[in-house]
Amino acid sequence: MTARTSQTPLELFATDSLIGEEERAIRDTVRRFVEDRIKPEVADWYESGSIPARDLAKELGALGVLGMHLEGYGCAGTSATAYGLACLELEAGDSGLRSLVSVQGSLAMFAIWKHGSDEQKQEWLPRMAAGEAIGCFGLTEPDFGSNPAGMRTRAVRDGSDWRLTGNKLWITNGSVADVAVVWAQTEDGIRGFVVPTDTPGFSAPEIKKKMSLRASVTSELVLDDVRLPADAVLPGVTGLSGPLSCLNEARYGIVFGALGAARDSLETAIAYSKDRDIFDKPLAAYQLTQAKLADMALELGKGMLLALHLGRLKDAGTLRPEQVSLGKLNNVREAIAIARECRTILGAAGITLEHPVLRHANNLESVLTYEGTSEVHQLVIGRALTGEAAFR
Ligand SMILES: Cc1cc2nc3c(=O)[nH]c(=O)nc-3n(C[C@H](O)[C@H](O)[C@H](O)COP(=O)(O)OP(=O)(O)OC[C@H]3O[C@@H](n4cnc5c(N)ncnc54)[C@H](O)[C@@H]3O)c2cc1C
Repeated sequence: MTARTSQTPLELFATDSLIGEEERAIRDTVRRFVEDRIKPEVADWYESGSIPARDLAKELGALGVLGMHLEGYGCAGTSATAYGLACLELEAGDSGLRSLVSVQGSLAMFAIWKHGSDEQKQEWLPRMAAGEAIGCFGLTEPDFGSNPAGMRTRAVRDGSDWRLTGNKLWITNGSVADVAVVWAQTEDGIRGFVVPTDTPGFSAPEIKKKMSLRASVTSELVLDDVRLPADAVLPGVTGLSGPLSCLNEARYGIVFGALGAARDSLETAIAYSKDRDIFDKPLAAYQLTQAKLADMALELGKGMLLALHLGRLKDAGTLRPEQVSLGKLNNVREAIAIARECRTILGAAGITLEHPVLRHANNLESVLTYEGTSEVHQLVIGRALTGEAAFR
């Protein structure tokens, strides 16, 4: 049989036909940035466990992706679908890069944009959109990850001031942040606080020896009697719905983002299998290889259709949290399976940083866990299906 021209997995699904012209232009711009700026360097960042976060934040700000789906205050105000597509392209570079952008835009900026006072918005959002100020989001604690309601960090009144004490753990961007959105118990319930990181009593030691998301800053936040003025509190929300509203935004970005890591892995494996001769013919020409590639392309394409569907629901303002759980659970689970299977196609070469597949697979271990673990999303979906909450 004569060889046919090959198609990429997403060309096979013709998913571009579901994306508008402007969204495609945004996607292509981010893809070029990742190809030119990120891919040549990211393996070195990963190996050294460090990332030039400050420089990158400014470049990402100039690219317009920081808080890109928010309106006003220097943000681009794009569709949610365009934001999702940008997350996909960023994560095709590295999940750490997408995490930087997600935490900045969907967690720290969104918290201020949605729940902040006008003064807080004016003070932080334009600088954060430009990447001149970096934000982090402190919810998780050493003893409270999946169950943030139990948090021990506490804010008490001292005259009109607040005093904040506690520890947050696993906080992306923590050590490089200029501002931390910190969630704490108060006598009225959980409240969010906008904490400039140069406030006395605040420190953010970086967590080292990570095997995953090595091209990302992850930190502890130590709040040792941090004194804040009365207007440091986010006035717009009390209770767990505050942080959960932000997590919902970031989870939505992950629905798309994880597919970027999967797509990059799969395209790498396809290219490798065509070049690699085994028993005198290309690995790509074996039925077992093609079965693997076909199954992975199916999952990638199905994940993309799901992501685009959720994107359109979000743009229509009807996306529900349990639907975000469907996307996060499925797309991260399938993405990590794809990255691991791609690693097998590369054989020994797959274990090095010369190729992105094991880097993506290792990164996706974190993505599987943060923003609600797979198990927590199963429970959210289970509750939606049965009406029974099985969290405890
Ligand atoms: C690289 C990285 C970056 C992160 N960045 C941030 C950040 O910027 N800000 C932030 O606040 N947090 C961040 N996190 C923290 C992340 O959100 C938490 O790790 C996550 O919520 C899980 O919490 P945990 O690690 O304490 O696990 P645990 O909650 O201890 O869970 C352990 C296991 O128990 C399972 N489990 C939990 N509840 C149930 C249940 N009811 N039934 C059955 N099984 C259950 C979990 O699914 C998991 O498998 C980050 C984490 C990582 C790894």
